[in-house]
Amino acid sequence: MSVLRIPQEIYQAIRLHGEETYPHECCGALLGSSTPQGWRVTASVRAGNIRTDSAHNRYQIAPLELVKIEREARSQGMQIAGFYHSHPDHPAQWSQTDFAEAHWLGCSYVITGVANGKATVTNSFLLAGTREEDKRFENEAIQVDESLV
Ligand SMILES: [Zn+2]
Repeated sequence: MSVLRIPQEIYQAIRLHGEETYPHECCGALLGSSTPQGWRVTASVRAGNIRTDSAHNRYQIAPLELVKIEREARSQGMQIAGFYHSHPDHPAQWSQTDFAEAHWLGCSYVITGVANGKATVTNSFLLAGTREEDKRFENEAIQVDESLV
């Protein structure tokens, strides 16, 4: 099983983001570097949820915003490690929509359940596979590190 390593302050920040946008979903990107065990997150970027039609159970980062995030990550020697979003009043498990809209093979998809405005469980799923046809979500562990070092 792969391990997503994330510093405490970033872990808290993405959970807090989900509480702030409740009852709507929050979303954002995770930046970092890859290790043989999995991604090591060193930054997170909040993104606007462009799905205003159904923001409580859909999330989408605007393509141009994503291009900008990726460019900035690269300029700082980081890569897009994955994405995060929240599930207001739903378990922290991926949905069929999440799976259908996940295209970044090898990236981690982090989901935080938010119940009555409070963040509950946070889970991470690695999008495994070599192409769209054989992609699948694999459960991965989250290791919260003390600090950013
Ligand atoms: Zn979702």
